Amino acid sequence: MKVFLNDRLVDSEDAKVSVFDHGLLYGDGVFEGIRLYNRKIFELDSHLERLEYSAKALILDLPMERAEIADAIIATCRANELVDGYIRLVVTRGIGTLGLNPYQCSEPQLFVIADRIQLYPDEYYEQGLKAITVATTRIGVSALPPMIKSLNYLNNILAKIEAVNAGYMEAIMLNDRGSVAECTGDNIFIVHKGRFLTPPIISGALKGITRGVVMEIADDLGIPLNEMELSRYELWVADECFLTGTAAEVVPVTEIDGRKIGNGEPGEMTRKIMERFRQRVAQEGRKI
Ligand code: PMP
Repeated sequence: MKVFLNDRLVDSEDAKVSVFDHGLLYGDGVFEGIRLYNRKIFELDSHLERLEYSAKALILDLPMERAEIADAIIATCRANELVDGYIRLVVTRGIGTLGLNPYQCSEPQLFVIADRIQLYPDEYYEQGLKAITVATTRIGVSALPPMIKSLNYLNNILAKIEAVNAGYMEAIMLNDRGSVAECTGDNIFIVHKGRFLTPPIISGALKGITRGVVMEIADDLGIPLNEMELSRYELWVADECFLTGTAAEVVPVTEIDGRKIGNGEPGEMTRKIMERFRQRVAQEGRKI
């Protein structure tokens, strides 16, 4: 496998960053997960824009311009002869001292890994997921804004551990006020009386690219949608529920905290969104 590292493609065995890199020492860095569908990169510009915003929030100077990063991604996909895949774009703070000070790190490291995608099992999409809300709350916007897609994922990992230990695939995270924020790596939507509801970003969610695409699809279909604060109660009594994310795409949720969602099967509106989403990924994207 070829990996893009800073300014060129290298063999994966040679794709190394230092043990002194603050990305490793402190989770100081940013990243994106992006999909390649049939040799087309989905929503590339949105991902690169979010990377720029994440980097700006951390006062991390990206080592390359947007067009150069796009070229690096395309080159990595081509070098690995990918048709469908998952692209991981990472920028670390770079080598520094053992102290926290990011200003003593001079050279951010940028790398791109593009690999075949490990798809989730079909049964997730056909039967839906069972999820639970967990005790680990989503980190507050004034502590570490969840809008920043940073390398520090321990908050989400703690929640994931809780779900897996309890025998569930996915954790729903609340914020300090008890409002629904998001899942460990996906945004959440519910359907209530013909209307889509999803927590606003300020509740403590990443501004998901897939979330944005689903909002556009809802708009195209004329389905009303509100971003509003949601409690666990609204989830429990929802008619339908689904999660959105680059890796998961659109995946139905059929049980939350032991309560069946709707009739316990993926809902009609969820299926419609899944279908439209698949159409969009088949049609759109930046050719490699
Ligand atoms: N929330 C979190 C915490 C995530 O890490 C992700 C991305 N995996 C998402 C939501 C979904 O965002 P996107 O649709 O851009 O992949």
